[in-house]
Amino acid sequence: MKLVRYADKSGNRLGVVKNDGVLDLHKHWPALSDDMLGLIQMWPDIASALPKLVADSAPDAALADVRLLAPVGRPGKVLAIGLNCADHIKETGQKTPPHQIWFTKAVTSVNAPFDPIELPMASEQVDYEAELVVIIGKRCKHVAKERAPEVVFGYCAGNDVSVRDWQLRTSQWVLGKSFDTHAPIGPWIVTPDEIGDPHTLDIRCLVNGEPRQSSNTRHLIFNVFDQIAHLSNAMTLEPGDVLFTGTPGGVGLAMNPPRWLKAGDRVRVEIERIGAIEGLMRPEAL
Ligand code: ZN
Repeated sequence: MKLVRYADKSGNRLGVVKNDGVLDLHKHWPALSDDMLGLIQMWPDIASALPKLVADSAPDAALADVRLLAPVGRPGKVLAIGLNCADHIKETGQKTPPHQIWFTKAVTSVNAPFDPIELPMASEQVDYEAELVVIIGKRCKHVAKERAPEVVFGYCAGNDVSVRDWQLRTSQWVLGKSFDTHAPIGPWIVTPDEIGDPHTLDIRCLVNGEPRQSSNTRHLIFNVFDQIAHLSNAMTLEPGDVLFTGTPGGVGLAMNPPRWLKAGDRVRVEIERIGAIEGLMRPEAL
């Protein structure tokens, strides 16, 4: 199942993708909010009815006619792991970290999957990071790795957009990772039954059609379930929390000379069995 948040003339909606169209879930559950958190909470009650509903219903709109929104518009947390692929560690000249390195991206950096991405006034060193994104489905703490799949609601593609000078001139990366619009996610949430093992997915980043990153999620050093187990030792994970799970090699920072994103660039992240998101780089407006 591909669960989508979108906007049409009547406002923000939640839907299910069917072929190249979308089924409006509010027609069937009028009490549903336009927030994915509401759907995650209702999920145990409605999940079993959805496949038949989708099979029996015609789409209410074409995907091309609606504006897709970030699947979770205002998550409680956006957490991201650093230095989690060997080729990316090597290109940045770092050592493989013995422990998982986590930072937050401000929740205000969340961006819709096809909306423009800002080139901030404060920097010219804006970079991309294609990443598999996990959406948490259950409130949980101290989750054993073996049970971590039970708390995953689904998966998205994400771009951990990074302002490198702001990121690297201090030991804490949070500011350089938290600029507005710098956490585009989507285009929808794909439920785990359609993904199977999340560590088998081809992942790519293209800038203006040119492949820059091309890898597979099997190369994550700490895999998705290691990550959930580790994080949940420290903090309660809640429905709708967003985890960026690490980027492969090929970032603009590591090129010689570095290749920063510039106005007019189109940055696309593609993940097998999920789909693609794509943003136009646009100067920040006052
Ligand atoms: Zn990242």
